[in-house]
Amino acid sequence: MKKRIGIFGSTGSVGRQALEVIKEQDDYFEVEVLTAYRNATLLIRQALEFKPNVVVIADDNLYKQVFKALDPYDIKVYSGDKALSQVMEMETIDLVLMAIVGFSALVPTLAAIRNKKQVALANKECLVVAGELIRQQTLENRVQIIPVDSEHNAVFQCLMGEGNNPVEKIVLTASGGPFKGFDRKKLEKVTPREALKHPVWNMGQKVTIDSATLMNKGLEAIEAHWLFDVSSLELQILIHPESIIHSLVYFADGSVKAQMSRPDMKIPIQFALSYPGRLTSRIKRLDLNQQGILHFEAPDVENFRNLALAFEALEKGGNLSCILNAANEIAVQGFLRERIGFLQIPELIERCMQSVGFINEPSLEDYIETDKFTRIKANEFINNS
Ligand code: NDP
Repeated sequence: MKKRIGIFGSTGSVGRQALEVIKEQDDYFEVEVLTAYRNATLLIRQALEFKPNVVVIADDNLYKQVFKALDPYDIKVYSGDKALSQVMEMETIDLVLMAIVGFSALVPTLAAIRNKKQVALANKECLVVAGELIRQQTLENRVQIIPVDSEHNAVFQCLMGEGNNPVEKIVLTASGGPFKGFDRKKLEKVTPREALKHPVWNMGQKVTIDSATLMNKGLEAIEAHWLFDVSSLELQILIHPESIIHSLVYFADGSVKAQMSRPDMKIPIQFALSYPGRLTSRIKRLDLNQQGILHFEAPDVENFRNLALAFEALEKGGNLSCILNAANEIAVQGFLRERIGFLQIPELIERCMQSVGFINEPSLEDYIETDKFTRIKANEFINNS
């Protein structure tokens, strides 16, 4: 029987690549649910091609357009944020691919876990914001999260078959983004256009800017903490511009395992969909002979302060990562709209971390309140800058 997949955020970069994987592997997978926020045109096109049982358009205003287009094809159409969580109750979903960007993925991800769905998690922000809650719910509901993000997917693969063998440290690799080696003087002048040109990966706007500021690696460190139960001291970030080694695990006996491939998100996406098996794919193979030398260096935390801020949030815990994440989402929007400069991104995040109230053991409601309040504060800082 084919695995029935719900793709949440199917119109985004990860969602579109997941559909390419499913198209290639249509003997193994079928699409049960597709969702988008506002890109109704692409959602309709995807639905007509993949014939899911259900589609959800998160923006209520677009319901009529999507309904009208899909009504003749026996595809159910729902709209609104709540529908994203309600459809998790469908018994016909075997695996949820969570590829919605940002905080909005948190409530539907928790609904997927509550409904005991296997979750392939691409979204970073919900583990960053509420990692403790997600870990607790996955344990309670005996749900396994398979990370899609290439670094965590690499660590997950390195840990397969290791049982309780002691891990010494986890090394997350980073390409370094388009501004690797830039000093403050150069960073002051960089534009959103330049920041959106990632040297290796082709991704959505938010994650591309996060890569340029190194916040992406900071968010990934927090994610790794929750996924693999490692402390900040057991986590290291290593700049590796070729992005061939996706991450490494150091074991207590001195052995180091690394997972390698050409930088192509379809590899971790397919692995997460087919886990625990592996499927043959047509993806271009890594040729180390042709690749030549691989480079490694320490990250520059003086000029790329986001990384240090993320480690601070990880160490202090509570709702601080939630504040960091919300402030970062607003700062990235502000930078993309040219309201603030590149170097103001960490400044704004730090101001929010200092001024929004700290809660040591937050509940889901506390996270939602913290997220809302931080966004208001961050917007105030932008308006007054
Ligand atoms: P995109 O911006 O390309 O796509 C985001 C998706 O989420 C779209 O389908 C979008 O719909 C939907 N969406 C946006 N806002 C909302 C909302 N408020 N409610 C419901 N749906 C919403 O993002 P990416 O695909 O790049 O990234 C998705 C997640 O995966 C992020 O958390 C990112 O950090 C992570 N990730 C991405 C990687 C990549 O290679 N792109 C790699 C590793 C992790 P619409 O199109 O209609 O706006």
